[in-house]
Amino acid sequence: MNDYAVARRRMVREQLAAAGLDDRRVLQAMEAVPRHRFVPRLLHHRAHQDCALPIGFGQTISRPFTVALMTCLLDLRGHERVLEIGTGSGYQAAVLATLCREVVTVERVAPLARRSGRLLAELGFANVEVRAADGREGAPDGAPFDAIVVTACAPHLPTALVAQLADGGYLLLPVDKGREQILYRYQRRGDEVMIERSVSCRFVPLLPGIQDLPPGALETAVEDLTADQLATDDPAAGPADGAGGPTDPSRLDRPHA
Ligand code: SAH
Repeated sequence: MNDYAVARRRMVREQLAAAGLDDRRVLQAMEAVPRHRFVPRLLHHRAHQDCALPIGFGQTISRPFTVALMTCLLDLRGHERVLEIGTGSGYQAAVLATLCREVVTVERVAPLARRSGRLLAELGFANVEVRAADGREGAPDGAPFDAIVVTACAPHLPTALVAQLADGGYLLLPVDKGREQILYRYQRRGDEVMIERSVSCRFVPLLPGIQDLPPGALETAVEDLTADQLATDDPAAGPADGAGGPTDPSRLDRPHA
């Protein structure tokens, strides 16, 4: 077993199982997916810490606990087609893809979508499709989805997403309640939508439109991101999920955080 595999095993035991997550399949997926590959090489030594980390463009890879909790809440059996809004590093998509049939994941920062798509393909996740688009519209041509997970925070449930959820399916969404964000799990039952409150959380906002680089700009693989590129994070993008307490952003290697 290499050092990263040892670190993942420890992460699962000390951050996930110890916090009460007990879905064996989810824990196995978290142990299997090489989390360090989704973070800059500069931060490989911190890849398994209990916090979010910067991945450039002002965005973050979610904290391991957040990824595992959201995956547990979807209760995947293996046959599902899942829609993710907010690809980011592609890590959550990789964990989902280990546990379901197909993942369609949508990211508004086009270079991030391209970079994550390349990485997921390189790592052999053939059942993930990454799209550069405004995820508030979902992926209408792929609907219905058995589950939908939004990894950015919205003021309310986007109606387009509910319309793309299969009957009986779960939709996870962090909702901005002003002082705090709450992770909700919605379930479509016919024409009704049931709502359950999960935990308090911190996610970057679900923003409108698509963002791209100027033509000809060079794109960098996540592992090659420099300290300067990580430092150009946009502070206005808000806190990373899992911020506060043991995941306070001051623990991130971000000059402005
Ligand atoms: N799931 C990611 C972490 C998500 S961070 C991971 O595992 O690494 C949230 C992501 O949502 C960011 O990359 C941000 O650019 C993206 N995002 C914000 N608004 C969006 C929108 N309207 N459509 C698609 N993606 C969006």
